[in-house]
Amino acid sequence: MGAALCLALVFAVERLVRASTFMEAQETAENTLRQTVYALEGHLRRYEVLPALLARQVEVRSFLATPPGSAGIEQMNLWLKHTNRVIESSDLYLIAPDGTTLAASNFDQSDSFVGQNFTYRPYFTTAIAGGSGQFFGLGTTSGVRGYYFASPVRDWAGRIVGVVALKIGVDDLETGWLASTHHTLVTDPDGIVFMATDPVWRYRGLLPLTPDRIARTKTSRRYADTPLYPLGQRESADNGRSLVTLAGSDGIAREYLAVNREMPGAGWTVRVLFDTGPIRAQVRLAVAAFALLLGIGLSLGWALWQRRARLAERIALQARAQAELERQVAERTADLRHANDELHRMQADMIQAGKLAALGRMSAALSHEINQPLAAARNYADSAALLIERGDLPRASDNIAQILSLIDRMATIARHLRNVARKPNEPLKTLSLHDAVTDALQVAETRLRASNVEVRNKLPKDLPMVLGGPVRLQQVIVNLLSNAADAMDSTGGEVELAAASDGDTVTLTVRDHGPGVAPAIVDRIFDPFFTTKTVGSGLGLGLSISYNIVKDFGGDLRVANHPDGGAVFSVILQAAKALQPAAQ
Ligand code: ADP
Repeated sequence: MGAALCLALVFAVERLVRASTFMEAQETAENTLRQTVYALEGHLRRYEVLPALLARQVEVRSFLATPPGSAGIEQMNLWLKHTNRVIESSDLYLIAPDGTTLAASNFDQSDSFVGQNFTYRPYFTTAIAGGSGQFFGLGTTSGVRGYYFASPVRDWAGRIVGVVALKIGVDDLETGWLASTHHTLVTDPDGIVFMATDPVWRYRGLLPLTPDRIARTKTSRRYADTPLYPLGQRESADNGRSLVTLAGSDGIAREYLAVNREMPGAGWTVRVLFDTGPIRAQVRLAVAAFALLLGIGLSLGWALWQRRARLAERIALQARAQAELERQVAERTADLRHANDELHRMQADMIQAGKLAALGRMSAALSHEINQPLAAARNYADSAALLIERGDLPRASDNIAQILSLIDRMATIARHLRNVARKPNEPLKTLSLHDAVTDALQVAETRLRASNVEVRNKLPKDLPMVLGGPVRLQQVIVNLLSNAADAMDSTGGEVELAAASDGDTVTLTVRDHGPGVAPAIVDRIFDPFFTTKTVGSGLGLGLSISYNIVKDFGGDLRVANHPDGGAVFSVILQAAKALQPAAQ
């Protein structure tokens, strides 16, 4: 279907191109023809008036009026020869009324006209009858083609006494045509070709060689004894244009676009023939170019269409992939949100559980710490009452002293609890770590001795001062020492105190030889109320309070296990000199 359409298009274009190309060629041919005819006419017209002018010359008139002797003829021959050269004609001659040539420019040549009789030539008959004769033909003596002009010569009385005739050659004109690519033909009134750019066409009949045409030619001896044949052309018409097929001297028949024009004066018809081969080749080339362009255009269009289709497909595919991705992302997001919500809920649950656990531990510890001294105080109070009844006042007062000490103990617990809730707003002081350690050792001395613990103080002498509160730092060190003692239980052992500074901080380490801190609880030992000790022996507040105190000092409290066993607690404090630049 598409192919048929393309074919139809190519055919239509071929018709259009052919029509326009042929029209152009026709125009060119007609222009060429016009120029050829003008040139030819111009050439003939140059000579047309010459015989009449020559007929009026005194020499000519007197020569023909009274034919002279041989000396006069001799003189006339020379005059004609000279004049012939001047007017550039081929031959110039004078004819007596009986048709005999009396004098001629070619008198001294072998084919001299002198003595020849030209009564059969139409130009002579016309001129002797008083008209101006013109004729084209082959010279009967020379065999050279020529155009003849003749005029009557009159004496002073006006009587026709002879004819002056001149002949011009056409060979030069014909040679001039050979340079062009087209062919030029000139036919006489009987349709016989006498000038042609291809010599084989000469003396051939373009029109049918009818008997009267042949007879006319014979009478005027136009072509002397040259045999005449038909040209054998084939003629056809194409859209009002005339096409002629004609074989040339190479024997190959070619088709020509033919235009012709009559030259009324001479009775000639001039034809210009343009080979249609190049014209048709030009049409074919244009059509081929069009077909090629069409092909290129179509394949380009096809490729473009394909590309667009592929692009559209890819875009659709991408859109689908994108949609799928978005759907997956949405799904995952929902999953994640769900998981996150779950986690939050679990965390909240755990926090709640942790709070409750801490509260439970605290309640257990507190109720024990308070109930036990309360119960003891009650016992003491009961016995004191009995002892007072009995009048044993000294023992009663002992009991009351016990009760007071129990009350003090409860007050201490209360103070501990206050410490947990305390806010860190006390200003920091510059203090010596040595002093803090010495004070702490004094406070803890009883407790340490009871547990059979020996402390080795390995603190270097030249430690920088540290930042902190003296009482609170001492409390931290006491806590760590008593924990160390607890860890080593009643078996006792050594606790090492050491310190080091990196310039910005001073780190105090407390190392015991107990079991160390189990990895499972490392993260929790600084939590308030976390304890592994039995109810009554620990509140689980010591490390928590210590941690907060050290943090208040801008330091840190860390725990690690020594490679050789035992726990190592590190109290990291700011070196006081670190603040000095700011103070200055
Ligand atoms: P308490 O001493 O009242 O239990 P702490 O806060 O001081 O409370 O200590 C919490 C827990 O940390 C202790 O119960 C114990 O399990 C652990 N712990 C503290 N110090 C040491 C140590 N030096 N060696 C081993 N474990 C320790």
